[in-house]
Amino acid sequence: MSKLLVVNTGSSSLKFKLYNTNSQAEILEGVMDRIGLQDSNFKYRFDIHKVDEVVQLANHEEAIHLLLDSILRIKIVSDLAEIVCIGHRVVHGGEIFKTSAIMDEENLERLKTISDLAPLHNPINVKGIEIFKKLLPSAMNVAVFDTSFHQTLEPKAFLYPLPYTWYEHYKVRKYGFHGTSHKYVSKRIEAIQGTKESKTIICHLGNGASLCAVKNGVSIDTSMGFTPLDGIMMGTRCGSIDPAIINFITQKLNYTEEQVIDIFNRESGLLGVSGISSDFRDVLAAANQDDPQAILALEMYVYRIILMIGSYMCALQGIDNLVFTAGIGENSSYIREKICNELTFMGIHIDKDQNLHREKEMLISKADSTVKIYKIATNEELVIMQESKALWDEFN
Ligand code: ADP
Repeated sequence: MSKLLVVNTGSSSLKFKLYNTNSQAEILEGVMDRIGLQDSNFKYRFDIHKVDEVVQLANHEEAIHLLLDSILRIKIVSDLAEIVCIGHRVVHGGEIFKTSAIMDEENLERLKTISDLAPLHNPINVKGIEIFKKLLPSAMNVAVFDTSFHQTLEPKAFLYPLPYTWYEHYKVRKYGFHGTSHKYVSKRIEAIQGTKESKTIICHLGNGASLCAVKNGVSIDTSMGFTPLDGIMMGTRCGSIDPAIINFITQKLNYTEEQVIDIFNRESGLLGVSGISSDFRDVLAAANQDDPQAILALEMYVYRIILMIGSYMCALQGIDNLVFTAGIGENSSYIREKICNELTFMGIHIDKDQNLHREKEMLISKADSTVKIYKIATNEELVIMQESKALWDEFN
């Protein structure tokens, strides 16, 4: 029976999920991390088995070799040719890839031309595709992009008020990210309500976080921008700030611009304000112990989200659904309640008891709320699998 492998190749990690192509059932999932460092971890589970090994992985090629060898060794396939398709998560598709695409030589070359738009992510995503092409030459490789879902934004939404030539010459514009997650959630709302017609604001709140305004199944705006640094406050990223701060701080602290941008990416957000942690649970625990910086960080976090929700209500000219997803959005009843409590004047009423339930997908608004509130567990791998399968089916 044929199999489809979904992979997310990061700078020092490889996440994977293997599916049965026809039934779409998950067969194996796991992660390798610390690739290129000493003592990498290789964790995976299948059936009732859970494996956690320490291995030596000098590079991604060794990691993918080990993954394929292990799939053979545990007899999930009897021949690697059973893996007919590999779906790759690719961070940036630029303006070239508006939908998922088969990575033949021509598309791979086109993908390489936009590596400068995501220098930390795309080159390693490309590397992953190249390694799979070499090790499994008969399989189809499909790229599913974080940016594609937002390619429906209109120019008034995706352009920055900067010299227009910067867009024309260098493609400086809003791209948006987390598109695979926003697409999954938007499709779930469509399935739950039996219609595409709705005005939905999705709050993807994980380490990285973004909001998306979805009108009739189409993304019309999103909070991340040219890079994932823009938008709401995140675990370690600052989100939207005045760009003139860069110049001011380079002079005050004698930093380079790269150092300042690095601080915006890695030492800001919940971590920067609380001084405690980028992990939401740690900050909440400290706030519960009356730590003033943790309390302030959470107040700012909520405030910046409600501002964005307000502006997306204007962009959508209303709102039918408010949805929470990703690590914090799915799991923290606290943050959902805090955000919704700020929005009661708009007819948004959360049901406090429903909000405490642990189901993966649930309506959590009161019956009299004019806006339906949901929490929905996201599933980016499923979207990558389905999009890859659709392309594989089309050409086989
Ligand atoms: P990413 O995929 O961007 O790395 P996740 O979507 O896994 O991030 O989200 C990670 C965040 O979710 C962390 O801040 C973590 O504290 C938070 N989180 C995970 N589980 C819970 C929980 N039960 N309650 C509150 N926050 C949680």
